[in-house]
Amino acid sequence: MTNPQVGFIGLGNMGGPMAANLLAAGMSVKAFDLSESALATLTAKGATAAGSAAQAASDVDILISMLPAGRHVSALYLGSPGEHDGAGAEGLLAQLDSRTVVIDCSTIDAETAQAVGHAANQAGIRFLDAPVSGGVAAATAGTLAFMCGGDAATFATAQPVLGAMGRASFHAGPAGAGQVAKACNNMLLAIHMLGTSEALAMGERHGLDPRVLSEIMLASSGRNWSLEVYNPWPEVQENSAASNDYQGGFRTDLMVKDLGLAMDVAATAGIDNAMGKLAAKLYEAHKADGNAELDFSSVLQRYLG
Ligand code: NAD
Repeated sequence: MTNPQVGFIGLGNMGGPMAANLLAAGMSVKAFDLSESALATLTAKGATAAGSAAQAASDVDILISMLPAGRHVSALYLGSPGEHDGAGAEGLLAQLDSRTVVIDCSTIDAETAQAVGHAANQAGIRFLDAPVSGGVAAATAGTLAFMCGGDAATFATAQPVLGAMGRASFHAGPAGAGQVAKACNNMLLAIHMLGTSEALAMGERHGLDPRVLSEIMLASSGRNWSLEVYNPWPEVQENSAASNDYQGGFRTDLMVKDLGLAMDVAATAGIDNAMGKLAAKLYEAHKADGNAELDFSSVLQRYLG
């Protein structure tokens, strides 16, 4: 599909820059957001404003959504009167042209993703759940990673648009598999950030320099992503969130949300995710202590008192 017509719904912190990258790649974008200012920011970059979600979704090759949570995605596609405006009570799946490929990039519960994916199948609509890894900076730079659930042919059709917004995309499996992959990854991220923080705090209280200890563990078996590219100790890495008063980056409240999704994925699989549960408890306490807006690596500060 060369130069597809794209509909884009949800132009927030992530969706706005993602849609801007599609425009920069020369694609035409018809956009909708409940927020007029979010819509105005994108139209200033060349997008056409749609007056409703249904309008953004009509007569397009690809429809992308980037919404906060499962209830928004379910209301948009399956319908839920009163929950949102624009799509009508029946939801978009009942209104879409069969040529339109739908890609939902929101991070939501796997159950909703599966339900919407199956409903789309029944309606003859090609649908991918495609949550992303990488925050606002990656959305802006066009370096997101997409984890996709759906059939292989739909995944292949989506490549040009995913390529304009990211550096990698993976086909995780059938409907909902993208959300399962995202939940697994973010639960592991939560855990190794806590482990890294705990180890650094322990060493520093014994008089070690956190930079030196980081170097030692990076060259040893404790090496991990949090230590290597997202060190939670301020000033160990120049451009880390920790070196910027934990501003920007990935907010603690979003990590708490993602851990909630991981709890559901573990429970429905019958897995006792003891480490994930403990991580959820610690990040929830950190959020409750007034740190919701800070980057999640600020959890280190809990160990320092
Ligand atoms: P956001 O709150 O900034 O943006 C959501 C946008 O959706 C808002 O502009 C809102 O007005 C709009 N919206 C809500 N319901 C709508 C509807 N029915 N029709 C049209 N527009 C509607 O959120 P965000 O940070 O952009 O995150 C979006 C998704 O991406 C979430 O699921 C989040 O978990 C995920 N995510 C975020 C990050 C991050 O760092 N921010 C990283 C990875 C994934």
